Amino acid sequence: MTCFINARVHTVDPRHPAAEAVVVKDNGIVFVGSTTDARRFAGNGAETIDLGGRLLLPGFIDDHVHFVLGGEAATGLDTRLCTSRDAFVAAIRAHVDTHRGSWIKGGDWDHERWPGRTLPRKEWVDPFSADTPLFLPRFDWHMALVNSAALAAAGITHATPDPAGGKIERDPGTGEPTGIVKDAAMDLVLARIPKPIAAELERRVRDALAVAKKNGVTSIHDIAEEAHIPVYRKLADAGELTCRIFARLPLAGYRNLSGQHITHRSGDAFLRLGSMKAFSDGSLGSNTAWFFERYLNEDTCGLPMEALSDGRMRAWALEADRNGLQLSIHAIGDRANSAVLDIFEEIVRTNPPWDRRFRIEHAQHLRREDIARFAALGVIASVQPYHAIDDGAWAESRIGPERVKTTYAFRSMIDAGVHVCFGSDWTVAPLHPLGGIHAAVTRATLDGKNPGGWVPEEKVSVEQAVRCTTINNAYASFEEGLKGSITPGKLADMVVLDQDIFALPAAEIKDVAVRMTVVDGRVVYRDGV
Ligand SMILES: [Zn+2]
Repeated sequence: MTCFINARVHTVDPRHPAAEAVVVKDNGIVFVGSTTDARRFAGNGAETIDLGGRLLLPGFIDDHVHFVLGGEAATGLDTRLCTSRDAFVAAIRAHVDTHRGSWIKGGDWDHERWPGRTLPRKEWVDPFSADTPLFLPRFDWHMALVNSAALAAAGITHATPDPAGGKIERDPGTGEPTGIVKDAAMDLVLARIPKPIAAELERRVRDALAVAKKNGVTSIHDIAEEAHIPVYRKLADAGELTCRIFARLPLAGYRNLSGQHITHRSGDAFLRLGSMKAFSDGSLGSNTAWFFERYLNEDTCGLPMEALSDGRMRAWALEADRNGLQLSIHAIGDRANSAVLDIFEEIVRTNPPWDRRFRIEHAQHLRREDIARFAALGVIASVQPYHAIDDGAWAESRIGPERVKTTYAFRSMIDAGVHVCFGSDWTVAPLHPLGGIHAAVTRATLDGKNPGGWVPEEKVSVEQAVRCTTINNAYASFEEGLKGSITPGKLADMVVLDQDIFALPAAEIKDVAVRMTVVDGRVVYRDGV
């Protein structure tokens, strides 16, 4: 038994919102109340941890994470912060020099940080990488720079047609591929990269777990692949998962789950399955998010994914839903969001009713009328506040002043009764829930140009942001009865923060330190308390 005393407990439980102490027995919360009453449990060998007035919250749940990629990026090539072509090329050259000969995958570059915002080209990296194929995604993973060795390995030449839902960028003069491949065209190259073996996957998961516990993350909703599941299972069975995983697998493979009678409630408190993920479009940064109107900087409305335009996604979604599997569909542009809502409406009309909790991942650009459809259909908006302060610096240059009014419209959605959930989309953004809360509360763009908030009407309160990072995310994985608030009977997943984010100036929230992370009643991270 452990007594956490002298804390400022914010429970996220409306029946009993504040307390001073929490008592944990085994993996569950048995008492929430005053320090005096908690001390009564302190006999019989119970450990007492004095939190010195610090804030105790339910453990953070991140509802959109690419966990294995995160573990890979934690130790790989990182060019995200490069602010010039020269710095970018130098970082890649240094990495190639130490990893020469086999595929290099990573980079997470952001050309919006460079003067002129020019897209990179294969000629930038070819001179030092003839023997080393490179697959270097933009940080959003909707386009990648590949070198000539990678193009050759994938058999891409000037004669290769663009795949449906993808684009091979070509030099306007020669027609040769420039080295930029977008969305489905990335798959032509990815298919050539050897898959990591289980031991390598396990190393990446361990690296990712280390990042999660330092940031107070006690559960994630992962975007997983089937090969990751046995690795998660092994670590869960060994008691080595320090973060609970709700693993979402590609929708196209839903029959592998329904064939084993797996539903949205399958698994245990550490590893759950039963939610299916699909993409309906690309991203704003890659000009592949699918809109009703054109982009301002390119003559395109973006790209719907092939499975959406050819009707397969609709058919898969209808059947997966009939088998009790949850749907999590990525949609960024307003037209993609609208098309996914159409599919969800059809499912509600044709399939038998159940507590299905549809999800749209990102829900980034919405027509006003579609916000009401989210609410009416009970569709969860799984949004990433950090993207708002990142993309917010340049979004208007792509889509103009009208469309940005309903971009990351968190407040409008909450006011309309939409169930809003926060996540990071790690590695697209850091696995740092306090950074997400800060972003949603301030909407202060990373370029420093909007200190009062970019589209400030859409700012939310700290209270709302914390709910979106705890109990709302527990609901999105059908686990609100198990976690997401500090309530007797729930799992003991908690985080201790150094300062009270409800009392601090909002601009300081992102810098508050995590002092302790408790998962399943166990202190898995501790720093200075
Ligand atoms: Zn993602």
